[in-house]
Amino acid sequence: MQKILFVISDGIPDRPIRELGNKTPLEVAKTPNLDRIAVDGISGMMHTVDIGVRPGSDTAHLSLFGYDPHDCYTGRGPYECAGIGMQVNAGDVAFRANAGTVDEQGIVTDRRAGRIESTRDVIDALGKITISGVEFDLQPSLAHRIGLVIRGKNLSPNISDQDPHKTDVPVHTVKPLDHTPEAKFTADVMNQFTKLTVEKLSNSPFNRKRKESGKLPANIVLFRGAGSIPHDLLSFKDKYNLRAAFIAGGPMYRGIAKILGMTVAEFAPSDGVTGLPNSNLDAKVRRALELLPDYDIIFVHFKAADSLAEDGNFRGKIEFIEKIDRAIKPLAERNDFITVITADHTTACGLKTHTADPVPVTIKGEGVRTDDINAYTERECAKGRLGTIRGQNLMPILIDLMGLAELYGA
Ligand code: ZN
Repeated sequence: MQKILFVISDGIPDRPIRELGNKTPLEVAKTPNLDRIAVDGISGMMHTVDIGVRPGSDTAHLSLFGYDPHDCYTGRGPYECAGIGMQVNAGDVAFRANAGTVDEQGIVTDRRAGRIESTRDVIDALGKITISGVEFDLQPSLAHRIGLVIRGKNLSPNISDQDPHKTDVPVHTVKPLDHTPEAKFTADVMNQFTKLTVEKLSNSPFNRKRKESGKLPANIVLFRGAGSIPHDLLSFKDKYNLRAAFIAGGPMYRGIAKILGMTVAEFAPSDGVTGLPNSNLDAKVRRALELLPDYDIIFVHFKAADSLAEDGNFRGKIEFIEKIDRAIKPLAERNDFITVITADHTTACGLKTHTADPVPVTIKGEGVRTDDINAYTERECAKGRLGTIRGQNLMPILIDLMGLAELYGA
């Protein structure tokens, strides 16, 4: 059985950029290794979630793994929380949260509490919280960020955000988004939680100290992205009977892989795997090749092209694409496994956000058909013989290339 090394370059595709002579960063970047993989393989385009859908990174990754996000995605919270090592069980509701600042009138004056370095004091000051039988689990994440998971009976993720996503406006009252008693109950509990956090935090000693040293108090927990994991979600192993490993720096990506039961590679700080433009991509590829004997499929995620595009930094994006190209050189040279090169979505530098444009995909390996495509770009791959597929088609295609697909019919 051939194994698979699957590279996901977050947001690497783009739209034509006037300053680049109406070319995309992928077209301008010098990428001999990506292009060699395109020469040796078969290429096409892929709508990761569906035609005309602007994918989030979370829904796009679920689709690439062969899951329909309409069935298993309700919000980003569970993936963020699992990514920082929190336990998220089916039936729990999980949120992305921030330590923020509100004034006496409940107006949000800072969504990051003056860029607080750690939320450990905030969480300690809140102590153990139970409201109407619902238990609250809070864990610090990076800087002002907090993972929040609630556990109890009759909870629903179908509630609105309390975080207004901007300052100088009041914090939002959480509302049920359907007519179920569960959504109403959960919204009520979360509104009580908001009140409680402000009461407990406003008078806490650590906030008095922050005020004395001229810092903004961290006196509210702002939350958004409520989500839960469906009871019938199959693990990747149960779905495909494949041993999967996932290599990424970002918590949300790691959380998706953890929830699907994949092995998530750990790195020491000295490895320099940061998810930023300075990330050590060679260390990721090296780890992938080391893990290959023990796994059937290994996903490697490169983040920064997306973040650079969201800053509109197309020159930085070109540089990062060239860095990816250098890192994947061993994949261009080796033919003892199947290589997949693709992205989770397009991130357009001009719009500084994700778009619904399909992404290029190339598959190369022993026995894989080839075509006449000689560059891994949006324009070239669109002419490839793989045609245009959906994200959820990719895993079945790979299962077939691995020789594992069951015959449909007789
Ligand atoms: Zn993404």
